[in-house]
Amino acid sequence: MIYTPAPEDARLPPVRINLLSDTQTQPSAAMREAMARAPVGDEQIGADPTVNALCARVADLLGKEAAVFMASGTICNIAATLAHCRAGDEILAHETSHVVSLEGCTHAALGGFQIHPLAGTAGQFSADTLRAALHRPDRHQARQSLVCVEQTTNLGGGTVWRTSALGDIAALASANGLATHMDGARLMNASVASSVSPRQIASGWDSVWIDFSKGLGAPLGAVLAGSNDFIDQVWLWKQRLGGSLRQAGICAAACLYALDHNVDRLADDHANARLLAAGLSQIGGVTAEPPETNLVYFDISDVALSNQEFVDAMRADGVLISILGGRLRACTHLDVTTAMIQEALEVIRNVVERDTAARIGRRAQV
Ligand SMILES: *Cc1c(COP(=O)(O)O)cnc(C)c1O
Repeated sequence: MIYTPAPEDARLPPVRINLLSDTQTQPSAAMREAMARAPVGDEQIGADPTVNALCARVADLLGKEAAVFMASGTICNIAATLAHCRAGDEILAHETSHVVSLEGCTHAALGGFQIHPLAGTAGQFSADTLRAALHRPDRHQARQSLVCVEQTTNLGGGTVWRTSALGDIAALASANGLATHMDGARLMNASVASSVSPRQIASGWDSVWIDFSKGLGAPLGAVLAGSNDFIDQVWLWKQRLGGSLRQAGICAAACLYALDHNVDRLADDHANARLLAAGLSQIGGVTAEPPETNLVYFDISDVALSNQEFVDAMRADGVLISILGGRLRACTHLDVTTAMIQEALEVIRNVVERDTAARIGRRAQV
């Protein structure tokens, strides 16, 4: 389901264009300077002023009482689900979501939770689908304790949940006594693409986090926000998981820098993604949906190459893309320019043309 070509391979030409993921960004010189200047302290006892400033800023951005700094988005999902649920509980989430399929089965390995996978197009499910999956408290069945959504959807194509849909789902969940958790790995992309504030997107959701190591361009870091009580519970799990940190302000400074400099420019990544998808659609044998944000999923069903052969052929020409959820994915980010998109399209066109020529050659030999 997931395939990533070798980025560092001495036998291959160096990577010129990295469309593997928005996690591939290099911290800029200015970001590194902000990191070097940051006042720091012991995060574990709440004494890192830069981490505290970041948490206060993100709590306010998302309209929540409190927030906590984490090393990654994955640990935000893990600590949040551990804080919301107890062993034997059920989590309802879209069948393609990160918590279901890309976290090493944490829910079972660490929590003893059951996943109730929900269907729906583009990584989203409707309030009706959720309603149909809910049951009354019943000693024969798992206690349903949490509903999760992903903003934007990753395997769903980087689509943006509308606030009305999010509101319907949160209202239905809380009317049935379930907590609500939003995986906001790319929530800032959703906000920029839809011109809806992060606070509005997060409104009505019990816990929400944003990732700084994706499109925002920081080397690491995510911030999870919620009520004071919830964040207290999360701190207990952060400690238990070995996630409490020391002079983490060095990294929090990069996140603060990202909030100041790298949010509005996400619109450039979205424009580049649209340009890439439009170019792909003009190549015979390739189909791509117009992206809402920075993830471009595409198919080469009319090309003889398998997805993996295609990814390797691109890599051999210095362009990195990946396979995710069984589909080809190219991702734009702050180290990708419009000129690189044009060049990547040229490489794709060449790979497809070589493939077509080889097939015609084979047929001619028969
Ligand atoms: C990347 C991602 C995560 C995990 O975040 P990391 O910072 O890589 O641990 C979780 N959910 C979604 C939707 C993601 O895309």
